Amino acid sequence: MIRAILFDLDDTLYPRQAGIMEQIRILMLRYLRTRLDLSPEEADTLRRRYFQEFGTTMRGLQLNHHIDVDEFLDFVHDIPLRNHIQLNPELDAALASLSQQKVVFTNASREHAERVLDALGVAHHFDRIVDVRDVGFESKPQMAAYRRICELIEVPPEECLLVEDNVRNLRPGKSLGMTTVLVGEDHEGTDPDVDYVLDRVEGIGQVIREIEQAALAEARREVAPRSKP
Ligand SMILES: [Mg+2]
Repeated sequence: MIRAILFDLDDTLYPRQAGIMEQIRILMLRYLRTRLDLSPEEADTLRRRYFQEFGTTMRGLQLNHHIDVDEFLDFVHDIPLRNHIQLNPELDAALASLSQQKVVFTNASREHAERVLDALGVAHHFDRIVDVRDVGFESKPQMAAYRRICELIEVPPEECLLVEDNVRNLRPGKSLGMTTVLVGEDHEGTDPDVDYVLDRVEGIGQVIREIEQAALAEARREVAPRSKP
């Protein structure tokens, strides 16, 4: 039974084409160039390296350069969001139809998450936001982040649905026993760590219904042999 739905924020609750992550990437490069005095090429190389090595660029900067993380988070999320995303009544209705606990699970800051949810008009559906600080900066795809969110919401991984645009961030959840949903239009083929694929997050209700129907069919199969004489 799914009791909690863990939604990634950026590029999951709104489409990649909104261009917010592209703006964040530009601001991160500006931060690296100005704070660490790097050329544009050096800044991009370091950003990619830290993202690969530490899960987020920020974690690499925190460990290797002892940056002020609050200032970094403010700097890279300083984006006019309403130029990129609007109220989404379809998502509002989809979330309203689901009885499960809904949680935002993001490598970004709580402040950014709150602004995105407000811009989409869906903040009232979410029971809580688990951000990069809540997981002690050991963010996705570090296994510690997935264990931490289960502790915080007091729901075991087997009862969590993990919704993400990035397969890399689904794998640890899957290995803990979560059910996984990959969101986005540019994903092809099958992956053993992906249970469901959605073009758009607005289809999340259909995934929940499929899971419930499968559980019902499973329960009937278990009952059937015992009911025979
Ligand atoms: Mg994302």
